[in-house]
Amino acid sequence: MQLDNPAENLVAAHPRAALGHFPTPLEAMDRLGAEIGVDNLWIKREDCSGLAFGGNKVRPLEFYMGAAQAAGADTILITGAVQSNFMRTAAAAAAKLGLTCHVQLEERVDGADATYRRSGNILLNRMFGAHFHHFPVGEDESAADDAVVARAAALRAAGHRPYVIPLGAEHPPLGGLGYVLCAGELLAQTAAAGIDFDTVVVGSGSGLTHAGLLAGFRALGRDDIRVAAMCVRRDADAQRQRMARRMAMMADLIQRPGLTGPADLEIDDQAFFPSYGKLNAATEEALGLFAQREGLLLDPVYSGKVAAGMIGRARAGDFAAAKGVIFIHTGGQPALFAYEPKLTAVFAGDSADAAAEAAASGA
Ligand SMILES: *Cc1c(COP(=O)(O)O)cnc(C)c1O
Repeated sequence: MQLDNPAENLVAAHPRAALGHFPTPLEAMDRLGAEIGVDNLWIKREDCSGLAFGGNKVRPLEFYMGAAQAAGADTILITGAVQSNFMRTAAAAAAKLGLTCHVQLEERVDGADATYRRSGNILLNRMFGAHFHHFPVGEDESAADDAVVARAAALRAAGHRPYVIPLGAEHPPLGGLGYVLCAGELLAQTAAAGIDFDTVVVGSGSGLTHAGLLAGFRALGRDDIRVAAMCVRRDADAQRQRMARRMAMMADLIQRPGLTGPADLEIDDQAFFPSYGKLNAATEEALGLFAQREGLLLDPVYSGKVAAGMIGRARAGDFAAAKGVIFIHTGGQPALFAYEPKLTAVFAGDSADAAAEAAASGA
């Protein structure tokens, strides 16, 4: 389906590399909606964005890779958690565009087991031919960025042409332009399908997705759309500070200074605990509900927590007056396999033949 995206002119000044499958589908979640008391519940399938299992890093990478190509880069560098979806998708994009990719793995999740270190996105990074580097801390974003910049300088001195994809909040959120486009895509898609909505639920980590969607809706004149963001990386106070800076820079990127204010930032950390990358009971329930009511797979680190936050708010009656609620599915499913031991423990009890399986494996 071709859609005329009203946000195209907002991002037209920035080079872009075509990487994904767009528009992504928009689907109803009637069975889940009935269960949690939301009449018009929809899901935007950003997990179906095409490249390397999809997810919400494909749209940002179209802009980062566009900038890298415009700068004549031959090498991409990126930092993230061991199971980062951004790194996996960047490694795939680099492979597709004929660039070398260096990934830096930060130790963000303590007590991680061997499966976490080998499976999921780590396996995929290996398959894409990425070069691995390790960074011993997980909560020092600027030190992690500095280490990548130092590696880029060394590569440049050796004759390479590196491009760093920066994640720190002090950098302009170039990748957020991909979600400005997604906001336009959603408006065109819902208009074409006759769907009315006024609430969007989205995860907020680096904030590219959150900032882009919010800026996109506001720049397109939709002050009525609530963007309810769920924390996946840090608590609500820290995320609110980060997003205030991000929104200012996002507005500058699309040349609409002053586009949003504090009242536009709705940030909820009810499902974030105990910390980044660690499951909790509400997230386990959300993973099960999406799978067993809708046949949809969420991930344990991001979309599962966002879904848990949405379910919590729905049960508290927060969406009772909403015209329509759209859950942005940001992908991340490869990490399911990195959390296999934990998830098997959670879901084995739901399987009728769990006892037989346990007996057969001698457990
Ligand atoms: C990165 C990621 C997020 C968070 O998106 P940001 O744009 O970094 O805020 C959410 N869900 C998944 C699956 C991700 O990989």
